Amino acid sequence: MPEPMTEPMTEPMTVIRNAAWLVAWDEASGSHVYRRDVDLAFAGGTIVAIGNVSRAAADTKEIDGSGFLVLPGFVDIHAHPSSEPMLKGLTDEVGSRQLYMSSLYEYLPLFDNDDAGRRAANEVALCELMQSGVTTVCDLSTERDGWLDTLGESGIRAYAAPGFRSGRWYAASGHEVRYEWHEDAGRDGLDRALRLIDRARQHPSGRLAGMLYPAQVDTCSEALLRDAAAAARARSLPLQIHAAQSVVEFHEMMRRHGMTPIEFLAAIGVLGPQAILGHAIFLDHHSWLHWPTRDDLGRLADSGTSVAHCPTVFSRRGITLEDFGAYRRAGVNLGIGTDTFPHNVVEEMRTAAILARVSAGNAHTAAAADIFAAATVGGATALGRTDLGRLAVGAKADIVMVDATHPAMRPLYDPIRSLVYSAGERAVRHVFVDGRQVVRDGKALAFDYPDAVARLEAAQRRAIEKVPRLDWGGRAAREIMPPTLPTLG
Ligand SMILES: [Zn+2]
Repeated sequence: MPEPMTEPMTEPMTVIRNAAWLVAWDEASGSHVYRRDVDLAFAGGTIVAIGNVSRAAADTKEIDGSGFLVLPGFVDIHAHPSSEPMLKGLTDEVGSRQLYMSSLYEYLPLFDNDDAGRRAANEVALCELMQSGVTTVCDLSTERDGWLDTLGESGIRAYAAPGFRSGRWYAASGHEVRYEWHEDAGRDGLDRALRLIDRARQHPSGRLAGMLYPAQVDTCSEALLRDAAAAARARSLPLQIHAAQSVVEFHEMMRRHGMTPIEFLAAIGVLGPQAILGHAIFLDHHSWLHWPTRDDLGRLADSGTSVAHCPTVFSRRGITLEDFGAYRRAGVNLGIGTDTFPHNVVEEMRTAAILARVSAGNAHTAAAADIFAAATVGGATALGRTDLGRLAVGAKADIVMVDATHPAMRPLYDPIRSLVYSAGERAVRHVFVDGRQVVRDGKALAFDYPDAVARLEAAQRRAIEKVPRLDWGGRAAREIMPPTLPTLG
């Protein structure tokens, strides 16, 4: 028997007919389940039926689902699409030898993107994200004119998170990090962020939202953090901050306050269900710290704080969270973020699964099911959303159709493992956000991807020119990041 519709049909309906595999949300168990040979119907941006859907009105659009794996769109809770895409080839292999291998302090301030470059980067990253199946992204960026327009045009569902802070770090040498403070700029940044978030919420697309983003635990004053947390609670906004992302930062917070970064954020009331920490790696149990306490993981779990886990960017410097499975078992909600290039959430999931096991020395610490849950409902939970990250009646029609017949998906015994460990984004064919198609045959529809890449390449050349002026030692990019091979004539 066809399953009854839950709401009257006022908008034209689309039916994905006879999906070979569909990952549905099972409310009873609170987890994803496979379903075979089922239909999924959506209308007006919302899923209205999953099961055996009868042919409805004459204007119903039918999509053949046979040969497809139908998934909920991925929720990427931590990305810097305006800046990171420009760093390809430059920061893949750097890490400060005298700053615990972090790249943050000595290298990140060297690349000064301009507005044209930021826009190109944003377009490139949004294409790549959607082509890997991301339907919701948290865009942690510096505000620029036209930013919300770019997000709106892309078709993606986005949380605009304009960064603000009371100070900035800089490497005075290769072995010392210093901070320069401008308290008024932080305060002004919070005010401007709240105004931009209001504009995002009013955006005609209806797909934009906002997030408060005090940039880093070590660059925001205690007063600014307290006010940002209060504003987040008063306005029911998610708040994200970088914290516990380097050994340098851990010791800086210990020097200032006699507290770990997590302990400090707990003490001043920032932690809570609305808070997301990128990247919460250097908790007091991390082996690189050799710290005598074991309290930070419990602080995150007890407060309901979420972690944005972005393994790729840290793994390039030999750094990893220890370990995904331990955080999960402690009761910490984890979501996945892409942070850097390539903006490919499926590769990020693979890296997360592998590094969890390597860091734990245990093949059973995390399975594909756990990582898949983090990249879908884990991210949605972090954003306080029950209508994202799942295929269920009443949820948003944010849907990914994976070609289950793609050679890289076969032999097809378990489609999620085939996707995560083998096929990657190559098998992602069609993506819908709010019921609207944003990727067709593997290509994002909103932007001219090759043209955006060409503009990004020009922006990278402009930024490379400026590197010697920004580096503490006046070095050129080629000295800091020598090419893989010498060029002979
Ligand atoms: Zn980040």
